[in-house]
Amino acid sequence: MPDSWIADRTKAFDSSGIREVFNLASQMTDPINLSIGQPDFDVPPAVKEACIDAVQGGKNGYALTQGMPVLLDKLQARIDAAYGHADRTAFVCSGTSGGLVLAMWSLVNPGDEVIMFDPYFVMYESLVRLVGGVPVLIDTEPDFSIDLNKVADAVTPRTKMILINSPANPTGVVASSDELRGLAELAQRHDVALVSDEIYREFCYDREFVSPAEFNDQTIVIDGFSKSHAMTGWRVGFVHGPAAVIETMVKLQQYSFVCAPQPAQWAAAVALEVALDEHVDAYRIKRDLLVEGLAEHYDLVTPGGAFYAYPKAPGGSGREFVKRAIAENLLIIPGHIFSRHDTHFRISYAAADDVIERGIDVLRRLA
Ligand code: PMP
Repeated sequence: MPDSWIADRTKAFDSSGIREVFNLASQMTDPINLSIGQPDFDVPPAVKEACIDAVQGGKNGYALTQGMPVLLDKLQARIDAAYGHADRTAFVCSGTSGGLVLAMWSLVNPGDEVIMFDPYFVMYESLVRLVGGVPVLIDTEPDFSIDLNKVADAVTPRTKMILINSPANPTGVVASSDELRGLAELAQRHDVALVSDEIYREFCYDREFVSPAEFNDQTIVIDGFSKSHAMTGWRVGFVHGPAAVIETMVKLQQYSFVCAPQPAQWAAAVALEVALDEHVDAYRIKRDLLVEGLAEHYDLVTPGGAFYAYPKAPGGSGREFVKRAIAENLLIIPGHIFSRHDTHFRISYAAADDVIERGIDVLRRLA
């Protein structure tokens, strides 16, 4: 096959970092696995039943492009009650990832700059490059907080979007209300689109979740059921923001993802009614277990949310440290996958307590 068959836009990024980890992991048998970005609890029973009922009841065809009313009306009502913005419309997309792709297609022209924070969720940089945009990375070390002066300095006439994720993957850090307000106001001042990935919003352990949409009514919020309800394989997300942006995203969804799976949307409508406190409490305890286990041995910013911790790698290189961990049968993720810097590693504590404890043992030994 001629090399020229593969479109140029796909060559602006690669997935070698992740492949490297998968290759190492494939040689492990029964690892202590603290690498996985999905909850270790199962989909709530009522949600499973709603999905089975939908399938048995013949709700298997295409969904409406913007989402089934059973789910969309509930989402819109909640969003209206939470924000009361005149121009805030919701639609249902195929996972948060689907929402992110549609946001990039809809908003970013070739050459447009997208400000994001390093370390960032793996997909962000590649998605920006895929649409010909230019990722502008703002360093957040050592405490992974947002320095508003750095953001202000990074804004240029080509800045189109600021992409924020709190609670964050991979650090677990929750941005403060002041940081989010500052960012929201800065975006507004510069007429820049603020996109907020809120997929971990339910997992906040030390304070209430705050959305930048509270301070900027044009904020485009991307959310979903993957993490909150352990529905990663069901592909249901949603986006809310200014109607003109949402209409554009829905138009593009029509010609790409088409819709989120219909049975999963009926189930997601039930998921909205399920209390998550039990899981959030359990994850707070797991967070505490991990942080206490590592506190004396690692340079670690206490994560306030999501289910990740992002310590500094002993010896300096995340890549080299992860190789040592894998030799001890512990699977964790090197930080260079999420960052320009190879200085940290990511632990996911979305795992059984005994697995976390075994992981802590290995990490203490390796420190
Ligand atoms: N955003 C962040 C920050 C994530 O960590 C993930 C999943 N790892 C996603 C988006 C994508 O989630 P999904 O497409 O399953 O909704």
